[in-house]
Amino acid sequence: MQLIRSARDMQAWSLAARRAGLRIGLVPTMGYLHEGHLSLVQQVRARADRCVLSIFVNPIQFLPGEDLAKYPRDLPRDERLCEGAGVDVVFHPEANALYPPDFSTTVEETALSVGLCGASRPGHFRGVTTIVAKLFNCVLPDVAVFGQKDAQQASVIRRMARDLDFPVEIIVAPIVREADGLAMSSRNRFLTGSLRQDALCLRRALDEVERAYAAGVRGADALQEAMEAVIRRVPSAAIDYIAIVDEHTLAPVAVVSGPVLVALAVKVGATRLIDNTVLGS
Ligand code: AMP
Repeated sequence: MQLIRSARDMQAWSLAARRAGLRIGLVPTMGYLHEGHLSLVQQVRARADRCVLSIFVNPIQFLPGEDLAKYPRDLPRDERLCEGAGVDVVFHPEANALYPPDFSTTVEETALSVGLCGASRPGHFRGVTTIVAKLFNCVLPDVAVFGQKDAQQASVIRRMARDLDFPVEIIVAPIVREADGLAMSSRNRFLTGSLRQDALCLRRALDEVERAYAAGVRGADALQEAMEAVIRRVPSAAIDYIAIVDEHTLAPVAVVSGPVLVALAVKVGATRLIDNTVLGS
């Protein structure tokens, strides 16, 4: 396994691999890897000859006051996990090199990015689409794999790739959970003491909406209220949003008639967690 630190070296490696007829797969991450990330590596290995995993805590997708400085980082541990999972290249660029002081070009998706996390984190998805476009240009992948955990992000990136004609196949892989149902996330390490147990309220709210839907409830308000009631029982939890939206357009629905994404963001203590499920597919 190789560690590559510069965009230029990454492009040189990828161009050589492409000239050799190899298919390249990319897993973009912010590091502090867990089983969820490694499941994306397995998806790439099933679809490509070489797997590049990028580790980059992208400053421009964090808003002022968010957890950029304290985002967990552990490169040696990540490298060990990558080696064990069969990653060929860890691409770990320097923030200053990717974003020189006079950096002045961004990529913005303007429809799917607006609601849900985009509403509470304005500018976040511009940071995401900009870094993913840059990673596509550095790694030149044939296929890139993203997690359903960040369902809106996956939709935004799929739209960006289509709109800007990136010749990259976008795959979305299922959410990987802890044994008790908590969606794996690098931020789970902030859930100390009783907060770890409290964080299960997201999964319980999704269980509740799945139960209500199975029992025939179709009104979005009623489904949303059932979820809110679950979260409200946990004093350390504060709802950022609960949304029931069309799976493709991400527009809110009043009545569930086709596949919908049920997504929620909840602050548990100081840690903002997201989770989701799809109903009616
Ligand atoms: P992150 O490092 O949090 O930016 O995540 C990098 C990629 O891993 C994104 O495509 C995420 O959607 C995906 N991912 C994160 N957590 C999970 C999970 N629990 N299951 C599946 N994919 C995940």
